[in-house]
Amino acid sequence: MKLLVRNIGRIVGIQPAGRLRVCGEEMGRLETLDDAWLLADEGRIAAFGRMSECPSGEGAQVVDAAGGMLFPSFCDSHTHLVYAGSREQEFLDKINGLSYEEIARRGGGILNSADRLHDTSEDELYRQAMARVREIIRMGTGCVEIKSGYGLSTDDELKMLRVIRRIRETAPLTVRATFLGAHAVARAYVGRQAEYVDSVCSEMLPAVAREGLADFVDVFCDEGFFTVGETARIIEAGSRFGLRAKIHANELAVSGGVQVGVAYGALSVDHLERMGAEEIEVLRGTATMPTLLPGAAFFLGMSYPPAREMIRAGLGVALASDYNPGSSPSGNMRMVVSLASIRMKMTPAEAINAATLNGAYAMDLSRDHGSITPGKAADFFLTDPMPSVEFFSYAYQTPLIRRVFLRGEEYKG
Ligand SMILES: [Zn+2]
Repeated sequence: MKLLVRNIGRIVGIQPAGRLRVCGEEMGRLETLDDAWLLADEGRIAAFGRMSECPSGEGAQVVDAAGGMLFPSFCDSHTHLVYAGSREQEFLDKINGLSYEEIARRGGGILNSADRLHDTSEDELYRQAMARVREIIRMGTGCVEIKSGYGLSTDDELKMLRVIRRIRETAPLTVRATFLGAHAVARAYVGRQAEYVDSVCSEMLPAVAREGLADFVDVFCDEGFFTVGETARIIEAGSRFGLRAKIHANELAVSGGVQVGVAYGALSVDHLERMGAEEIEVLRGTATMPTLLPGAAFFLGMSYPPAREMIRAGLGVALASDYNPGSSPSGNMRMVVSLASIRMKMTPAEAINAATLNGAYAMDLSRDHGSITPGKAADFFLTDPMPSVEFFSYAYQTPLIRRVFLRGEEYKG
């Protein structure tokens, strides 16, 4: 099955094969080709070039891009999009100035999401999550990582991860699954955190691994959640089952999460609203991708991660949505890209690289996704004609994404 896209105003995000991420100054370079065509074959990018040398398209489905731009699909490397119900009551409570404890009493917070998930069937969870998956595909996402962590018991964590597996098997986008049993201490273990960590390591992780349900292991390493020592224990336990770590770090405090993530070769450390020079230095020259979630900082009114300092120090950074019911009820990666420019002073080129190739790297998918490269998956979207790439970030509410293609097939859902 061949697909030929003609009359592309500009192809954005071209990368040579073998470049798995971009760091430092490279992040500001976005290679493009004007007045172009692109051919996909068997779901992969076969070739592209200038319209003056466009192939005939015989035997291929031909799509006219009508002068719009072609971007690689977004790679959203941090979400919690499997959850039951929603938490707009908590949103109202925050507007009205209630404290964290009062909000928790009225049904907010991770533990309340866990209660609700416990009472929701696997089929119903899948149905609700798929509505969010369809939403993000229409907004240009082609790869997504989804975490467990609203189960907090072996049975309920398995239930969440089975829902993620079913999404992977039925949705046209690429899905990676992360086990986040250490998202919070379960209600049944309040006051017995060490025992909860034992249960994560010796009950939940083996059960998850037995069913092959996770690609990665994650820990909320932060003040009031899990300590550096507990995080190290859980990462080590995960590595015995071949699961690499992706760590929630430095959202609420300078937690030591960056250091423990780097020390254990984590694929990514995520959030990073609280970063000092020391944390940036620790990340230099490592394989760990710092991942920034400006949608959460925006929704909660928190300070933003120091993206400019990180890029100046030569780091690559990734951008992700953190789609979740409490702190970022949106999976709109285009909004994330615009927020990165508006609030973190990343250039549009840096933000697009961070949301595509570097996001793919943070899911260990960048050999196959995240850029326009012959041989990679033909995951891309077409926009309306635009005066420049920067316009895509600038006109941040104009619905510019016109058509979405995953594995070389148009998404019509
Ligand atoms: Zn998160």
